[in-house]
Amino acid sequence: MTDELLQDAAVRFEEALPHARLSEDTRERLARPRSSLKVSIPVRMDDGSLRTFAGYRVRYDVTRGPAKGGIRFNAGVTAAEVTTLAFWMTFKTALMDLPFGGGKGGVAVDPKELSTAELERLSRGYIEATADVIGPDIDIPAPDVATNEMVMGWMAHEYAVIQRGHEPAALTGKPLALGGIPGRSSATSDGALHVIRHLRDRVLPDVDAPRAAIQGFGNAGAQLASGLAEDGWRVVAVSDSSAAVYDEDGLDVAKLREHKSSTGSLGDAPVGEVLDPEQLIAVACDALIPSALEGAIHGDNAGDVRARVVFEVANGPVTADADRILDDLGVDVVPDILVNAGGVTVSWFEWIANRQGDRWSEELVRERLEERMLAETRAVADLADERGLRLRTAAYVHALERLTDAVDATGTSALFGQSR
Ligand code: GLU
Repeated sequence: MTDELLQDAAVRFEEALPHARLSEDTRERLARPRSSLKVSIPVRMDDGSLRTFAGYRVRYDVTRGPAKGGIRFNAGVTAAEVTTLAFWMTFKTALMDLPFGGGKGGVAVDPKELSTAELERLSRGYIEATADVIGPDIDIPAPDVATNEMVMGWMAHEYAVIQRGHEPAALTGKPLALGGIPGRSSATSDGALHVIRHLRDRVLPDVDAPRAAIQGFGNAGAQLASGLAEDGWRVVAVSDSSAAVYDEDGLDVAKLREHKSSTGSLGDAPVGEVLDPEQLIAVACDALIPSALEGAIHGDNAGDVRARVVFEVANGPVTADADRILDDLGVDVVPDILVNAGGVTVSWFEWIANRQGDRWSEELVRERLEERMLAETRAVADLADERGLRLRTAAYVHALERLTDAVDATGTSALFGQSR
């Protein structure tokens, strides 16, 4: 799966190349990560035994600024997965014009198997193992799958202990009390809502009360379900790893969120019809919104999709094979590097505030997030129209041209006549 991921990422990159203003230097720079660190993290378990977990931190490209990207705790984490995710972060930060490169980290662990105290020791152990390559001007981690504010708080504290001094801008997504920023935990879904609102008439013309099916009911998926319901959408289906819940008239999202937070899963949901989680992909809807892990829509199930548009809230949820099938079916795909960029954008605000020793109001965060999301959504849509590209390719081209400008500004390729 994960080597396929890297290949998939390469396919998207190759597809964008002929359409972008690009130098040979950029191609060469982006061919492999700047640095990859693999660590072993020894953790004292509650029963007194010692267990070792594999951890990773990859800085893919740092031409536009220090590496930026989350850390995930997931059993399936591998070097190839983290590398691919860091590659995507490079494009995401360039697309959003943030002064960052792309990085990513992860630990191969099923966090559900660990107690809270074990998770804390693992989080601190991750920082102890990677502290040399982290810092406000080097690489700035943040939350990702199954890591949250609490985890970032432990990590930021551990980093301060190691540095023997406060360095809040070294990590983002922290609790407010430790230099976090208001609105960071809803930033991914808030950003996605801006993109969806802006593109709605383009991808779903003449649809009143459109139907959404959301795969993944974690931080981003559950908040987005509420936001869409408030915007007048019918959320007809949601799923997590245990179940899918369906109601063609629209689900009571508030009730489902309550059920999920009290029981930990969507199984036995008090509303709608409970289905197998895999059935969500094939639900009749207007927008399918994968918000969990990569590869959810693949060559074997893309043909079952009955939506008119896919909004990628997860990173990499549609494989390159599936992309081709969806294209043949006439299903638009709005890509992850745009749709889920709200998270890293608000991380940027947090980093700025920390470096200035300032605090931002929630209102300022909301205002500036909306401005950034709309500006880049418009830019991607205009580029797609001007050059006759799909939205994914347009997003990659837009990011690649920013990367090219930065790479060329650091080198002498123009002297050798290599720019085209
Ligand atoms: N994990 C998020 C992402 O994939 C946020 C990264 C960040 O804030 O640095 O975009």
